[in-house]
Amino acid sequence: MKLNDYMDLNDEIDEYLDSIKGSFFLQNISFFINKSIEIKEKCVPFLDKNKHVMSIDAGPDTVSLDFVQGIEYVEEYLHQLNPMLEADFKEKLSNGVINFSFTDNGSLEDNYLEKVNFNTDVSFYNDKNMPDTLVNINHEKSTYSTFTTLVHEYFHSVYDARDVHGKMQNWKTSALTELASIFFEFDFIKFMNQKGIPREYFSYDFYSRYQDTVVGVLEEMDSQKLLYKKITEGVIDEDSYKIGEYQMEEDKYQDLMTYFKQDDLDLDPEYMSHYLVASPLAYYLSLQNDFQMPQKMLDLKREINTLSILESLQKVGLNDSKIEQLNFGDIMNQMKTEVHFKEKGKEDGRESEEGKKVL
Ligand SMILES: [Zn+2]
Repeated sequence: MKLNDYMDLNDEIDEYLDSIKGSFFLQNISFFINKSIEIKEKCVPFLDKNKHVMSIDAGPDTVSLDFVQGIEYVEEYLHQLNPMLEADFKEKLSNGVINFSFTDNGSLEDNYLEKVNFNTDVSFYNDKNMPDTLVNINHEKSTYSTFTTLVHEYFHSVYDARDVHGKMQNWKTSALTELASIFFEFDFIKFMNQKGIPREYFSYDFYSRYQDTVVGVLEEMDSQKLLYKKITEGVIDEDSYKIGEYQMEEDKYQDLMTYFKQDDLDLDPEYMSHYLVASPLAYYLSLQNDFQMPQKMLDLKREINTLSILESLQKVGLNDSKIEQLNFGDIMNQMKTEVHFKEKGKEDGRESEEGKKVL
């Protein structure tokens, strides 16, 4: 890279840093890098036989669940959390805040096509022109994981904190709301398991949380380090990779520079950081046998705009030193043990043994 390129790079990074000024990520960037390193040291993504990151199509087992039955399970789950949540869910179903809009070709936008194999696409739209919650489900081909995803997105509508323009209020809500949504995802699995549904029916959920987090960490860690170097050194140049803390491999550093030169800097470690915190901590919390945990999590809703992230985490039993002690790599590897793959020759969405009986 030429000198000019480095000047551009520095400008680009400054712009990015400015856009996330004051964020939890930026204030705790060493914490995020250290937690990423824990994951990188211990976790390897699921790979296919060519050693490529395994695509979701080739991935985990899924088990069919009738659509109406699935909705009933979700309602029953919400009811035992709090009858008001069930009522709220039903209201959002009837007034279209949760909007099922599966179309014949299975997608609303082209970029969702890749997920069509799983016949589920549930997204919480942060766009006032779109329905608040848009749930794209093939009613004929729903699986257990369809409803885990629905629970996840429903809780986004519960914790949603928007300004008058319909925009998410701040960075804090996204990290904490992700934590809550992922927690309830796992808590729903726990509830279903207590009803006798095997946890392995939810392999897809464990798979996608594991894979997304590990791959995200591997992709963003060098960007995190680059930002750290920019903050601590002031200026990035050709030698920055070997200076100071968090040294980088020269070829990785060169890759990042080349990438920048071709595509402009397209890093978003701040966005990724929400999941880096949320996935391991939500899973960890769901494994604690604390029957009050869902309620503690719900209580955060009232305070989400007044407490800092660290104060919020303390309310669910996670103070700084506790989080420091938890090895995120170990937690993710525990999650990995819950993933079961399809047996060869079996289609997606195999029938559950009791599936027919329940209906
Ligand atoms: Zn989410």
